[in-house]
Amino acid sequence: MSVGVLALQGNVIEHLCALEESRAEALPVKTLADLDRVSALIIPGGESTTVIKLLERFELFEPIRNRVKDGMPLWGTCMGLIVAARDVVGMPDQPTLDLIDVSVRRNAFGRQVASAEVELDIPALGTDPFPAIFIRAPWIERTGTGVEVLASVDGHGVLVRQGHMLGSSFHPEMGPDRRVHKYFLSMVAGSAAIGKHSTAA
Ligand code: GLN
Repeated sequence: MSVGVLALQGNVIEHLCALEESRAEALPVKTLADLDRVSALIIPGGESTTVIKLLERFELFEPIRNRVKDGMPLWGTCMGLIVAARDVVGMPDQPTLDLIDVSVRRNAFGRQVASAEVELDIPALGTDPFPAIFIRAPWIERTGTGVEVLASVDGHGVLVRQGHMLGSSFHPEMGPDRRVHKYFLSMVAGSAAIGKHSTAA
């Protein structure tokens, strides 16, 4: 069972290392053949308008969308959350994968707090606060039904889960704490178990 990291642009190596440290098999995904080899995908941080264009150019936009719609676990971090979201506030023409039912605002924290490390309370990960690194991060302005907000800052969601999909405004791959990676890997293991069960049934 391998976890792919979309490797068109952005924080690819950091996620691959974080997955390996979390004892998962990790593969960079650049082509359709790579995508076929993985059972889950992380879309890392980077620049969302660039990556959406590259997804189309590398003919990965629809295939990723279809795999996730069919149940492949997905985690978008920062730019990845923007790419996976239903829509982007104030940018109605910006295409997205339209997978996680949230509306996100890009670069939402303003210039002063453009980059910051915040001790974030994430009850799903235990009582110790999580050192969350924000870099020109989006926040979530609307969550659809079925979207669970796992953490927020000033009333705005920054970590959300919708079934087999996870989205974070911050960059767990850039710090030493692997709890969000492990949380995602437990989602991946859970979805593999459901897959086996439904095949057997
Ligand atoms: N500001 C970037 C964007 O809107 C996201 C930044 C990041 O991924 N660190 O695409």
